[in-house]
Amino acid sequence: MATRIGIPRALAYYSFYPQWRTYLEELGMEVILSPPTTKDILDMGIRDTVTDACIPIKVFHGHVAALIGEVDWILIPRLVSIDGDATFCPKFLGLPDMIEASVQGAIPPLLTPRIDIRDGRFAPLRAWLQVAKILSVPRYRALVAYQKATQVGAYYESLLTHGILPEDAMAMVNKWWSSLQDNSLLALAKAKNSLLRTANSIESSTQRVRLAVVGYPYAIYDDYISCNLLASLRRLGVTVITPDMVPSKSRKAQAKRQPKYLFWHYSNQVIRATYHFFQEQMVDGVIHVTAFACGPDAMVGKLLELDCRKNNRMPFLSLCLDEHTGVAGVMTRIEAFVDMLVRRKEAQTS
Ligand code: SF4
Repeated sequence: MATRIGIPRALAYYSFYPQWRTYLEELGMEVILSPPTTKDILDMGIRDTVTDACIPIKVFHGHVAALIGEVDWILIPRLVSIDGDATFCPKFLGLPDMIEASVQGAIPPLLTPRIDIRDGRFAPLRAWLQVAKILSVPRYRALVAYQKATQVGAYYESLLTHGILPEDAMAMVNKWWSSLQDNSLLALAKAKNSLLRTANSIESSTQRVRLAVVGYPYAIYDDYISCNLLASLRRLGVTVITPDMVPSKSRKAQAKRQPKYLFWHYSNQVIRATYHFFQEQMVDGVIHVTAFACGPDAMVGKLLELDCRKNNRMPFLSLCLDEHTGVAGVMTRIEAFVDMLVRRKEAQTS
């Protein structure tokens, strides 16, 4: 039986799952993903964390607890820096230690590669080779697996920048990857064409209001903690744009416009993507999804609010999430916000 490696469906999962999964599967491991977030998972997370932790951290603890008894190892990379510029929020840096110290029950051993590109461009590769060594996989096999995982990661990122949401993009990556392993170039071409078709349908969307939903991927894409925000907005006829839909090159180009350089990777992404939306006049309003007790967001939220004001008084809504946030409250606020945007747009047109 293959060794089972668990991956919690939270935090960096939304950014890196396809490449982590490919790497581990290419090493011959069986990857087991924790189920989508539910009340039970959140409750387990609340049980295992301190009260003032942010909700994404609580949810992460819950996902780890959900994997206990199901897997032989749990993968929790210690993400420090992937661009040599900013670091991840301190809670990411201490995540493996937090989990070991606080999750109740017999947690399986953790695989915790330390990813810090500031230690040299080959530092991430060295960290992943170490994982292979722990799992007793030969180095040459790990090198091939790493190359494949990098390809998959790049393809996944290009899907996100074409406006496809993470869960759909992951499904497309799976399809594409299995067709590639069959060596069927035709299947690969088809996958690429279907990607373009989807992207074009988003481009040519005629929906009445375009809204930037900005925030950290693990807050905006987790349907449970975001109270189904993205689906609800789409039901209201809104075109939703998120920071992941901005190519990393365009985000980087906005760095010079930042009045204050932020130390944290995801915070910079949010701010820079929003500046890109302003510059390209892509949106009619901004919703900032933030987590209660998030340190970095104290700064990000204020900057966004001020920048919206400076940009032609762009309508701005801050949605703060915690374990007490209810669907009804979120719905009331977004319906009112969208109504106001529609009227504003109509008034501007007339
Ligand atoms: S950036 Fe904020 S929401 Fe994300 S893990 Fe850190 S404190 Fe929590």
